[in-house]
Amino acid sequence: MEVKIIVPDTSIMDLSLEGVIGSNLYHLTELLAAHGSKTNHGLFGGDWGYGAFYENDVFMMHPYCWCEKMECPWCRACECESVYTVDDKVVDFRGWMDMQDRTRIGVRITKQCEICADPKPNEPNFRIKDPLIEIHWYKYIGRGMKIPEGLTLEQWSTAFAAVIDSIEEPA
Ligand SMILES: [Zn+2]
Ligand SMILES: [Zn+2]
Repeated sequence: MEVKIIVPDTSIMDLSLEGVIGSNLYHLTELLAAHGSKTNHGLFGGDWGYGAFYENDVFMMHPYCWCEKMECPWCRACECESVYTVDDKVVDFRGWMDMQDRTRIGVRITKQCEICADPKPNEPNFRIKDPLIEIHWYKYIGRGMKIPEGLTLEQWSTAFAAVIDSIEEPA
């Protein structure tokens, strides 16, 4: 039986830095899986599009997390308490929604949560430790991906080669 595998995005040749990083991380996931790492699977990211759970001295990879728990370093979901306002007066949600002039509405934080009080960003989905390169993605590699500003293809390629070198052969 022939099985057709459709891989979105990564099957398209993309030579932008983000495209190269996305493709590298996709193949890294496949490599880590071959070395026994747990991976996340899903419908839209392709077989290796979600990343693997792995960490060594050189790098860390962690798939997108869906738990939305405040104590999770990958989610750190905001739990601020807030009220809805119209002309800066507190109203119920209905009154807020019904306000036709959307420039008059607002949301006022009444109790800031620990997450927002602490400016530490969420853990990235991929980190090269030295030089520090952190990459975040939304759900699957390549989607809503955040890469460090100013990163060059050369810096990335050198650091990524060290990542590949650092993976232990399976016992
Ligand atoms: Zn989580
Ligand atoms: Zn918050």
